Amino acid sequence: YRVKRGGGGYGFFSEAHDRRASEGTEVLTALHRAVMEEELFLQYQPIVRASDQVVVSHEALLRWTRQGGVAMPASFMPVADSSGLIVPIGRWVLEEAARAVQLGLLDRVAVNVSAREFAHPSFLRNVEETLARTGLDPARLTLEIKEGSLLDFVRAPEVLGALRALGIRLALDDFGLGLTSLTVLSALPIDVLKLDRSFIARVGDGKEDGERAARLVRSVVQLAGSLGFGTVAEGVETRLQAQLLTNAGCTHLQGYLFGRPGALGEVLPGESKLVSALS
Ligand code: C2E
Ligand code: MG
Ligand code: MG
Ligand code: MG
Repeated sequence: YRVKRGGGGYGFFSEAHDRRASEGTEVLTALHRAVMEEELFLQYQPIVRASDQVVVSHEALLRWTRQGGVAMPASFMPVADSSGLIVPIGRWVLEEAARAVQLGLLDRVAVNVSAREFAHPSFLRNVEETLARTGLDPARLTLEIKEGSLLDFVRAPEVLGALRALGIRLALDDFGLGLTSLTVLSALPIDVLKLDRSFIARVGDGKEDGERAARLVRSVVQLAGSLGFGTVAEGVETRLQAQLLTNAGCTHLQGYLFGRPGALGEVLPGESKLVSALS
C-alpha cells in the first residue's frame, strides 16, 4: 500500500529542483526518480504510551523493494548517506509521512533524519517548505535525530532550536550508544530520548546482566525526566520488558510486542492492536 499522490502534482522533487536538475544532471535525476518513485516505500511502527498502551504515534521506516524482496535500511542507508542520496530521499520520506497524516491515516508521525541530512545546509528550509506545502501541523511531527549526529556538527543546537521553534517535536534517537556529555544533553532543546534497543534487549532477560540493565534504564529515565524529556524504549519484545520499562518510568514504548512496522492499512488509528502487557 502506498499513499497516493494527489493529481500528479507531488513527485519527489520540487519544480525548482526539477529545473535545476534539467541543467545537467538528468541522468542522475532519472536514477533518483526511478529508485524513489518505483522502489522505496515506508512502513509505520506504532509507539504506545506506557501508562495505558494506547498508540499515540507511528515511526516511519524506509524500505526498498529490490530484487523480488524488501531491502532493509541497514543494507542501503550507508550508501544513501555517503553518496548524499539520503538528502533527496529524506525529503521524500518527510513529504510522504506528512501526507499520511494529512490524509487522516495517522494521528502523528515520527521521521528519522540521518546525520548527513541534519547537517545539510538546506535541511531546515526544506522542513519548513514541506510543512508549508503539505499543511502539516508541526505538532503532529517528531523528527528523530541520532545521538551521533550531534558530534562534529557545531550548529546542531542551533538547528534543533530552530526546528523546535517551528513547533516540531524532537527525539534523540539511539540514545545510549553515543557519548553525549551531560552538559550538552541538558542544554539540548529536545523533547524525548529514545533508548536504544541494544540496552533495552538486556532488560528482563532473566540474567544478572538484565537486572543491571533495568537499573541503568531506570537511572537514565530519571535523568531524562529531571531534564524535562520523555523517554521511548525501543525494541520492546516481551511483556516482561514492557512491565519493567513501565515501572522504570519510561513514558513510551515501541517494539514488536506492540506492532511490527507495517503498511498504512495495517496501522490505521484505532485499528492497531493494543497489547495488554501489564494484565
Ligand atoms: P531506528 O530509527 O532506531 O529504528 C528502529 C529500528 O528498530 C527499526 O529498524 C525497527 O524496525 C527496529 N525495531 C523496532 N522494534 C523492534 C523490536 O522489537 N525488535 C527488533 N529486533 N527490532 C525492532 P529498521 O526499520 O531496519 O531501521 C533501521 C534504521 O534505519 C533506523 O533505526 C533508522 O536509523 C534508519 N532509518 C529507517 N528509516 C529511515 C528514514 O526514512 N530516514 C533515515 N535517515 N533513516 C532511516
Ligand atoms: Mg528512529
Ligand atoms: Mg532508534
Ligand atoms: Mg535504534
